[in-house]
Amino acid sequence: MRGAVMIDIGSPRCGRRAVWDEPFEFFGGRRRGEAEGLHQWGGWRVREKYPSLFAWRAPPTWSRVLWSGDDQRRDPGGYRLRHQGVVRCPACHRVARHRLRWPADAYFQWSIRGQTLWAWNAGDARVLLHYVESTLRAPERYPGHAKSLRELPAVFLTARNRGLVARRIRATLAEITPRE
Ligand SMILES: [Zn+2]
Repeated sequence: MRGAVMIDIGSPRCGRRAVWDEPFEFFGGRRRGEAEGLHQWGGWRVREKYPSLFAWRAPPTWSRVLWSGDDQRRDPGGYRLRHQGVVRCPACHRVARHRLRWPADAYFQWSIRGQTLWAWNAGDARVLLHYVESTLRAPERYPGHAKSLRELPAVFLTARNRGLVARRIRATLAEITPRE
């Protein structure tokens, strides 16, 4: 299944922690038996997660890839992930279409010495905290996060800034009510 990453954003209405979700789920494989209610799009089967907000319309290109704006190597045809989606706010109960602006929308973001540090969600923020606090710089020890940790700007990891970064992340994590 693709397009399943949960993203935490600040609620556009109340500013508290809300979920941004992809409007569709994409399933690969050839099991067409369970295709009821799913749309066929090339090798993908597509499920509408919010049928009243987003109806599936196949993108008007030949290309049947899923891509997201942070991966420049991909063909910019096909379906763009992390773009048009739905915000769901448990605090103010808003459920609405929301076009993702990143990292401006990020709930987990911190301004550290003039640079913005962000995480996709609470789980990623915890990984980031653990990595910043560890004395061992070993991104490969964090499966699924190695690439982003490797690309973390050095300013967040200097001896001078590490303590500050860790305190800021810890403070934000302490404010949220557990959801997972
Ligand atoms: Zn809200």
